[in-house]
Amino acid sequence: MQTNFTLAQLADPDTRESEQILRNCVHCGFCTATCPTYVLLGDELDSPRGRIYLIKDMLENDKPASEKVVTHIDRCLSCLSCMTTCPSGVHYMHLVDHARKHIAETYTRPLPDRSLRTLLAAVLPHPGRFRLALIGAQIARPLAQLLPGRLKTMIDMAPRKLPAPSPVDRPQIFPAEGTRRARVALLNGCAQQVLSPTINEATVRLLTRMGVEVVVAEGAGCCGALVHHMGQEDPALASARANIDAWRRLKDSEGGLDAVVVNASGCGTTVKDYGFMLREDPDYAEAADEISKMTRDISELLAELDLPQPVRSTGQRVAYHSACSLQHGQQVRQPPKDLLQAAGFEVVEPAESHICCGSAGTYNLTQPVLANQLKERKVNHLQRTGAEIVASGNIGCITQIAGGADLPVVHTVELLDWATGGPRPEALG
Ligand code: SF4
Ligand code: SF4
Repeated sequence: MQTNFTLAQLADPDTRESEQILRNCVHCGFCTATCPTYVLLGDELDSPRGRIYLIKDMLENDKPASEKVVTHIDRCLSCLSCMTTCPSGVHYMHLVDHARKHIAETYTRPLPDRSLRTLLAAVLPHPGRFRLALIGAQIARPLAQLLPGRLKTMIDMAPRKLPAPSPVDRPQIFPAEGTRRARVALLNGCAQQVLSPTINEATVRLLTRMGVEVVVAEGAGCCGALVHHMGQEDPALASARANIDAWRRLKDSEGGLDAVVVNASGCGTTVKDYGFMLREDPDYAEAADEISKMTRDISELLAELDLPQPVRSTGQRVAYHSACSLQHGQQVRQPPKDLLQAAGFEVVEPAESHICCGSAGTYNLTQPVLANQLKERKVNHLQRTGAEIVASGNIGCITQIAGGADLPVVHTVELLDWATGGPRPEALG
């Protein structure tokens, strides 16, 4: 695609990057067929190619974001299915991230939308605040019908039962069983530890059983993805720097650090992008790049280490839901399925496995109608596999699918832990 940015515009590093991305697009439109919003709405402006044109026009002409641009960019799930499909290697993720930042800087959203986003950014990345908000939602549930639309949706989505906080999520070291094979930092996340603390518990049990020392580092916390996807760069970079500092301290300590492990693939995609996000920061660029390169999804690390033999007979049919952030964002597709098979499960994949379930960070709160359509579509496909269990590697997808499925939905690592000696996942009853 031909571009016409001025030299002054190209002095800005984000614009320079976006220009390169735009120039790679050859307008072929292959990406439209695998874009969930185009599949649902059939509007070119709700396809990757249409959004690319809108972003190009906005950036090239130094325009503030318009209502039309915001509408179509807001509908994008950042599922990155288009990146998997694109034959020209267009890095849509960095382009849409730049567009979202530009929107945040140049567009004043209507008050209800602004309030919702402010609330989500202030609450979700902080486990204590998120827990309090969910308790508040439980108390307000009987009055939900009287509340305005968005608030009612949020209350409806709050879990009816809130698990107790897990001691695993405090900063500490979990020694390896037997001879130590590796030492890793576990990103214990923000929303996940409140909604499903058993995921981190299973991860720690499984890794330590395999001879891996696991450290929950003091000072590490939310990866910054939630605010990053809302275009709020400063808080996103602050989270990234805090995590890098925490993990760099570990790396420089006597025990060293072999990897940063992430068991929520939405977060993993962002941590693997820290090197890019902080590329212009002289104090952090190198360290950020190093941390990104040593970050592994839990399934990648388990595949590298060889899973122990199952100690119980499994054999259940498991429908594997490949989170977009894992299959498209990190290009990790086979390891989770291979691990489940090695642990004795029968693994099946639903139709349209490349299409998003509609969770997409805060998308199910900001775009509830489209998110629900995608959820129903996904749940139908998963249930048609005849599986007894659904497994996935991302808490957002697990919560979204569990909200519509008649099957138990668990994290892949919970099944692997169970098969190799851990307790039966609570969701299986
Ligand atoms: S990220 Fe997903 S929703 Fe957004 S344009 Fe690409 S395929 Fe479509
Ligand atoms: S598939 Fe790639 S090159 Fe083709 S229109 Fe989509 S983004 Fe552009």
